[in-house]
Amino acid sequence: MPEGPTVRRFCSLASPFVGQRVTKVGGSTKQIALPDLMEQQLQDCQVHGKNLYLAFGCSVTKEKADDVDSQDDGKSDEGCSLTGEPSTAPGDQSAPGTSEETPVRKWLRFHFGLYGSVRANEIARAKQGNKRGDWKDPSPRLIVHFDGGGFLVFYNCRMTWCSCPFVEPTCDILCPEFDKEKALCALSHPRPVCITLMDQSVFSGVGNIIKNEILYLARIHPLSLGSALPEETLVALIDHAVTFTAEWLRDKIKRKALHYHIYMKEQCEDGHQVLKEAIGPPYGLQRLTWYCPTCQKLVGSGDALQGTQE
Ligand SMILES: [Zn+2]
Repeated sequence: MPEGPTVRRFCSLASPFVGQRVTKVGGSTKQIALPDLMEQQLQDCQVHGKNLYLAFGCSVTKEKADDVDSQDDGKSDEGCSLTGEPSTAPGDQSAPGTSEETPVRKWLRFHFGLYGSVRANEIARAKQGNKRGDWKDPSPRLIVHFDGGGFLVFYNCRMTWCSCPFVEPTCDILCPEFDKEKALCALSHPRPVCITLMDQSVFSGVGNIIKNEILYLARIHPLSLGSALPEETLVALIDHAVTFTAEWLRDKIKRKALHYHIYMKEQCEDGHQVLKEAIGPPYGLQRLTWYCPTCQKLVGSGDALQGTQE
């Protein structure tokens, strides 16, 4: 089985195709539906352990930026694995609140067998005859042609769709190793806290429901700039994130329904009118956000969405 360094080389073969669109797909695999890859843009490639991950999504144009289906600019896919095969990505199935939105970027995970390999712009040829003396070329599991004219060929591998590559425990809101200091540092940036909370590289596992609920519990307006909020308020927000997520998971295990404080509500718990707005980074996914303008005062206003683009 190819070890990490070999898989990294596979990744370096795939990376020149990032940004290109799939024009033709072939191969013998039955593990994914080949048409699912058609017209998709290769957006990223990563190696975690011995697995290669390729991100596919719809290419985004400026005109489509306000479209809810447009591509998020982060690695914040929330959807669940699209296949029945269990994923090794810890953030995959365990994170609560992740089933409400269709993923806009999907990761295809490759796990290579003993003779697994990736080739770019060439087909593997038989190096020797088989017992009968036939020279049979290896059969590709997957061939992906791109609009740049090149192609990638994958041999002897298993593949499955998943929602996100391996997540560092320090970024996983459900892990005991979750790094609150790092989270505080990220939240202190001069950008709306509701956008930082959805950054899966810091708050992996936090989805739109959790975001709405913990902002309400911490009495923070979603568009408040993190840099304008007192540190103790941000610390309280992080504590709410950890406890709310853990409680949700506990309820989920007991098959108990979650009680929402603000999400999808018309009134807050004090009877104020709740507002609902689509909020997100420019050219990113705009997510419906519920908040109470009375309980959650805006701090650090101005053009809050400026400078939030990665
Ligand atoms: Zn209120």
